[in-house]
Amino acid sequence: MCSRMTKLLRPCETVRSIFEVDYPRLYRAGKRAILFDLDNTLGGRRPRRLDPQVKELLEEITRMGFKVGILTNRRIGTNDPVIHSLGERYPVVVRAGKPRRRGFREILDRLDASPSEAVMIGDRLFTDVVGANRLGIHSIRIRSARRA
Ligand SMILES: [Mg+2]
Repeated sequence: MCSRMTKLLRPCETVRSIFEVDYPRLYRAGKRAILFDLDNTLGGRRPRRLDPQVKELLEEITRMGFKVGILTNRRIGTNDPVIHSLGERYPVVVRAGKPRRRGFREILDRLDASPSEAVMIGDRLFTDVVGANRLGIHSIRIRSARRA
């Protein structure tokens, strides 16, 4: 699907939003963990709450057999309402320091998944895409979070 030789800044796939990702195809390709960025990916620029459709999508992905994790560079605590609500259901790594490898490794560790079975979905080339590509994680860039 996406070679490790891919240029670092080039996502394996680009889609309009998290709702347009072909999750069944990823599953058939052997992917088992989906890592989501938060800002401008699961919500808007600094979401205070998540759209119910987003929560439902995450549930649906989980029912497909994926493990779901959230990886954000935001310096926020678990008392943030969005982080709190996501954290009740999914592993969340804040202050992830993307594109550095540490945060990716931490979330993969918590999901018990390898880079080759993981997918990173995010809006930013220099953090989400570069970080994922460096580790051989399938990278999907989304253009807009606001369109459900
Ligand atoms: Mg983002």
